Amino acid sequence: MAQTLLALEPAALAEWVTSHGGQAFHAKIIRKEVLERGVLDYGEMTSLPADLRAALKADLPILSSTEATRTVARDKAIKVLLSFPARGGTVEMVHIPPPDKDDTRGATLCISTQVGCPVGCPFCASGLGGLERNLSADEILEQFVIGRSVGPIRRAVVMGMGEPLLNMEALNKALDAVHDEMGLGSRKITVSTVGFPDRLHKAARQKPRFELAISLHTADDVQRDALVPAMKGTSIESILAAGDDWFEQTGREITYEIALLGGENDTPWHAERLAERLNGRRCMVNLIPWNPSPGMSFNRPEAGTPEAFRDDLIARGLVATVRWSRGLDGDAACGQLRQRVARS
Ligand code: SAH
Ligand code: SF4
Repeated sequence: MAQTLLALEPAALAEWVTSHGGQAFHAKIIRKEVLERGVLDYGEMTSLPADLRAALKADLPILSSTEATRTVARDKAIKVLLSFPARGGTVEMVHIPPPDKDDTRGATLCISTQVGCPVGCPFCASGLGGLERNLSADEILEQFVIGRSVGPIRRAVVMGMGEPLLNMEALNKALDAVHDEMGLGSRKITVSTVGFPDRLHKAARQKPRFELAISLHTADDVQRDALVPAMKGTSIESILAAGDDWFEQTGREITYEIALLGGENDTPWHAERLAERLNGRRCMVNLIPWNPSPGMSFNRPEAGTPEAFRDDLIARGLVATVRWSRGLDGDAACGQLRQRVARS
């Protein structure tokens, strides 16, 4: 398997560079160009000696992935399907520009952590074929770099394919580089998880470099077992307790996410139960109206239902918003692009 730049630790890159006629400080320049500025062509790194540039170009590809497809939605969200020829598999990433075109603060990136997903939520396209493999730290970092090559990044959400808590070591390693070398601070990165309690307790004690969102989906234990199959038998109480522990350890408020499935978990009864459960906690609730995926038997919530659900929560003292997904005509919901390409 060909070695790639991003898979080399900084010290190993310095060694590579010196063994190819360059000097150690050239390695720093290269990482800076790639990570800070999103330069993906050695030819543009004109402060490097020409021979070194040629050697890099010949023997050290920057990325391990190739772009399998790219779709641009009407709202300019760019969805990229990345393929990893050597290690296998495809994942999705989305580059979402600010809604206001005069806003220069940069885009939001959505990235993946696994090829497929082992959790198997029945409403999500990412889990359809189970887990193929975990992404490595450099494959996760690579998505940030590709996003940066499109333009400046303001925020990132780990809400693409896969369950981040099941690949924490690689994610943490990638986020270290994102933090230290790309300059994206902890408050600018949100990791979304189904919330395995033992893993959350552990992550809370590792000085996390991200904000946390927990995909709760419902306040009803029986329903949650059906919606998040890999967590069957894990009580909502234990997930909320792990969330409370996170808040105590990190001082950062949690966002609870609810994928709103028409007629399933979006009724006034569900809003009331949820408000009871979350009562007294300092947190946010994000309501994500379900994006239909072919072959799935769920419904989108009826018009006005998400807003009514939100208002119910607010009336009961919670902070809640409806999040309409961007880039819908670009198969924006996680796993959908990969699924469509696999079908065609
Ligand atoms: N595995 C993690 C992160 C990826 S999914 C998790 O489940 O949290 C990110 C969010 O998108 C989750 O809240 C998930 O429930 C939601 N989601 C997945 N498929 C969806 C769809 N088709 N429509 C709306 N939300 C969806
Ligand atoms: Fe996996 Fe998240 Fe999709 Fe569930 S919603 S299958 S945990 S990616």
